[in-house]
Amino acid sequence: MSKNTDELFKNVIAHAKEYGFVFPSSEIYDGLSAVYDYGQFGAELKNNLKTYWWKSMVQLHDNIVGIDSAIFMHPKIWKASGHVDGFSDPMIDNKDSNKRYRADQLLEDRIAKLDEEGKTSEAEELQVEMDNALKAENLPRLRELIIEQNIKCPISGTANWTEVRQFNLMFSTQVGAIADESDTIYLRPETAQGIFVNYLNVQKSGRMKIPFGIAQIGKAFRNEVIARQFIIRMREFEQMEMQYFVRPGTQKEWFEKWKAARLKWHLALGTDAAKYRYHEHTKLAHYADAAYDIEFEFPFGFKEVEGIHSRTDFDLSQHQQFSGKKMQYFDPEIDPATDKPYGNYIPYVIETSIGLDRMFLLTMINAYEEEDLSTAEKQDSRTVLHLHPCLAPVKAAIFPLTKKDGLPEKAREIMDQLKLDFNLQYEEKDAIGKRYRRQDAIGTPFCITVDHQTLEDNTVTIRHRDSMQQERVAADELDKIIGDLVSWKNLLK
Ligand code: ATP
Repeated sequence: MSKNTDELFKNVIAHAKEYGFVFPSSEIYDGLSAVYDYGQFGAELKNNLKTYWWKSMVQLHDNIVGIDSAIFMHPKIWKASGHVDGFSDPMIDNKDSNKRYRADQLLEDRIAKLDEEGKTSEAEELQVEMDNALKAENLPRLRELIIEQNIKCPISGTANWTEVRQFNLMFSTQVGAIADESDTIYLRPETAQGIFVNYLNVQKSGRMKIPFGIAQIGKAFRNEVIARQFIIRMREFEQMEMQYFVRPGTQKEWFEKWKAARLKWHLALGTDAAKYRYHEHTKLAHYADAAYDIEFEFPFGFKEVEGIHSRTDFDLSQHQQFSGKKMQYFDPEIDPATDKPYGNYIPYVIETSIGLDRMFLLTMINAYEEEDLSTAEKQDSRTVLHLHPCLAPVKAAIFPLTKKDGLPEKAREIMDQLKLDFNLQYEEKDAIGKRYRRQDAIGTPFCITVDHQTLEDNTVTIRHRDSMQQERVAADELDKIIGDLVSWKNLLK
């Protein structure tokens, strides 16, 4: 990370805290590692991101519905899904600092460093070696690579490493009063399984025909061993997942469709396309026959924001086996090859899985600008969030020019009308310029000032966040002006 990008990232984190977007969890107790709380504007922005996702996935597709399944599930589900036995990361400890690291991430960091130093072929070679070792689950080989590369613990500065071991990422807890092995349940590490175990409930109650999708937004928990990069890697985070159930044999075609559709969703927000890239998985998860990540270029490099996975019939078949319940779907459509209905089968699944917190960070970083407004006469600057108006936590702020002469009452009157449609803020403290700056910092698209002329002709000044242009408009038009800009139609069409 260069000094500039490092600084940008630090500034965004500081800004997120100062302006009520993201706070470290339990801060007065010195925080809880890899857990964060969303503040008053963060919660609004997060809700708007959820709305954007939900509307484009559920509302715009008549064959996709949304559910909200419980976080706690029968423990056998995690046996069936493979998480009890297979959801682990290769860990290595440094014996001098007693610090634990993900073996693959130590190597990834090394690869990035080699790349930075222009040693591209060495980097590529190491990448291949690491991928092979991961694929073969060859833990001793991973350790060898770390030793060969002379990778040292950043804390102790030594290369005194333990063996590499697998470490399960699921949190467990006990159900009921008596703690006993058989009562162990897990906090879900992904929302997907809640969809799989309900797929027939939804299909039957909703009379869904293949292909169809089930979407869900919810918390997931992973005991990530190393917490880093702010809300990129959290122990409690939120996912927005959609499972698309398709006829076996058509999964490739649907995979390609969703891969393209999901990138389009990201780009509709106006983000520079060069900031995004696809990354193909070389080490496929135990359930997948194809997998791509959508990566975004954060200040610390490209990182996964969303995964598109072709999960085959793995999950449903496993649940059929472990529960003893049929997971088949009857497809009445005629197969042109046989002239008979396709009949009974276990559907194949394409999954799109996006991390809401990573999407949140991406959005903040993209929007953040320290703008120099200096002129020949004076130095000036502002920090502004150029958030898409649909995502902005506050749509408009209403300012009476002064606290007297009936201006606050008039401003309140205008606000009372508009607040039925929009999230607004009322501010009467400080000079107008200062109030503008505060709204710029949280990304409010409009500031509306009520002055003495308003009392005479019911007009106000409206100031636009990005251009900082002001215009005088009739108060009665505000509804339409704000509505036109923040309408979800702008994003969804
Ligand atoms: P990574 O390789 O970065 O650990 P992953 O491949 O394990 O991620 P998936 O299991 O595919 O992630 O989960 C889907 C999405 O959930 C990811 O694209 C990411 O946005 C988000 N996600 C996963 N783990 C975390 C986490 N610990 N904190 C925040 N978001 C996460």
